[in-house]
Amino acid sequence: MRGYVNIPGSVDCNCCKVCGARPIIVLIKDIGYVVKCPVDDSHYRTHPGLIDINDWNIHNTNCINHAEEKSIFSFH
Ligand SMILES: [Zn+2]
Repeated sequence: MRGYVNIPGSVDCNCCKVCGARPIIVLIKDIGYVVKCPVDDSHYRTHPGLIDINDWNIHNTNCINHAEEKSIFSFH
């Protein structure tokens, strides 16, 4: 599995419009960074290169934010 990093909570980014997951940043060797949905590769992903959260946000408006609600209301 390739390495990935979570986007810090202080960064203003939308959740996946398909499933509501918070996106992750994946570094693909020799290609660059991709902002993508952690759940499914078929959901939106940015073009490899620089980290482009702006592009992610443009393509994932009206997100339902399931992941955030889960983290607030579950205890683990
Ligand atoms: Zn998704």
